[in-house]
Amino acid sequence: MVIRFPGVNAWAREKSMRILVTGGAGYIGSVVTEELINAGHQAVVYDNLSYGHREAVHPSAAFVKGDLLDGEALRGVLRENEIEAVMHMAAFALVGESVTHPAKYYQNNLVGGLSLLNAMRECGVKRLVFSSTCATYGEPAKVPIDESLPNNPTNPYGESKLAFERALKWFDSAYGLRYASLRYFNAAGATERCGEMHDPETHLIPLVLQTAAGAREEVQIFGDDYPTRDGTCVRDYIHIVDLARAHILALGILDERSTIYNLGCGGDGYTVREVIDTAREVTGREIKVRMAPRRPGDPAVLVASSEKIKRELGWEPQFQDLRVIIQSAWDWLVAHPIGFQVKKW
Ligand code: UDP
Repeated sequence: MVIRFPGVNAWAREKSMRILVTGGAGYIGSVVTEELINAGHQAVVYDNLSYGHREAVHPSAAFVKGDLLDGEALRGVLRENEIEAVMHMAAFALVGESVTHPAKYYQNNLVGGLSLLNAMRECGVKRLVFSSTCATYGEPAKVPIDESLPNNPTNPYGESKLAFERALKWFDSAYGLRYASLRYFNAAGATERCGEMHDPETHLIPLVLQTAAGAREEVQIFGDDYPTRDGTCVRDYIHIVDLARAHILALGILDERSTIYNLGCGGDGYTVREVIDTAREVTGREIKVRMAPRRPGDPAVLVASSEKIKRELGWEPQFQDLRVIIQSAWDWLVAHPIGFQVKKW
């Protein structure tokens, strides 16, 4: 059945809302903030700067340095700014670290998230867009992955995100808190202002481009014996602007009901080798590679079906061509050779 909510979405786009963005100094949050402001909303960024960059926060957004676990500070921000909706992106997101340090992930992603929900409940804020992940599915039973597939996370990162999603369901039924949980596939690319600058960096595209720029010697390919077209893992890369725009569309459904959407570009995805070859084409640089063993917990293929959000909200990715994604990330890197902070990679 085709369900459409054109009226609701038109309302969300036309009405300027006051929105709190937790984690708005991070890679995804900074671009979501930028798109919110471009769409005419007012954004307040709440971030403890443990990983984010103050410089990444859009100049038109208000900024509050604070921690999710500080309920009093959260309540103050929600009330003082008369916040109408929250976009919750503040989380730890390193899969490997979550395996060795699960306590950190449960504490921030789950306990911190619950602290936010309680503050929202106490202040009567009933709309939430949540930054979730395809890591909730674990090793998928089939691809493309749609929202009906079972959740079976293989690491504490995915578990902590899923546990929070499950709490959302009960906060909805008990307190009427409406949520849209967006399960991201591989966010990549940059805008003119904001790009990817993690420390430590673990993601493929920034590592490949830092190698092209001469800041790293080589890229390791984690396994070439997977059952895929060239033996390396297949992932679904989605441009950060397409991802950010989905958050704004998702606002439109929150007065109707709660929901979960996958967010990727679908198709055949791209192998690790295809990413490296495309980066060579885009940059015109040598990119030295070295074969390395498989990285524990990496599924062979993760590709989204995003049919649900396309059908229900009319979302369509505009920048799904990998060359466009990598070109934007390269342009940002060339323009910001030392990142947001004054330091060498
Ligand atoms: N990868 C790789 N070398 C690297 C980093 C990543 O071969 O230095 C591979 C990784 O095994 C996965 C893909 O690139 O198959 C994407 O990894 P990334 O960490 O960017 O995102 P993930 O899919 O794990 O969220």
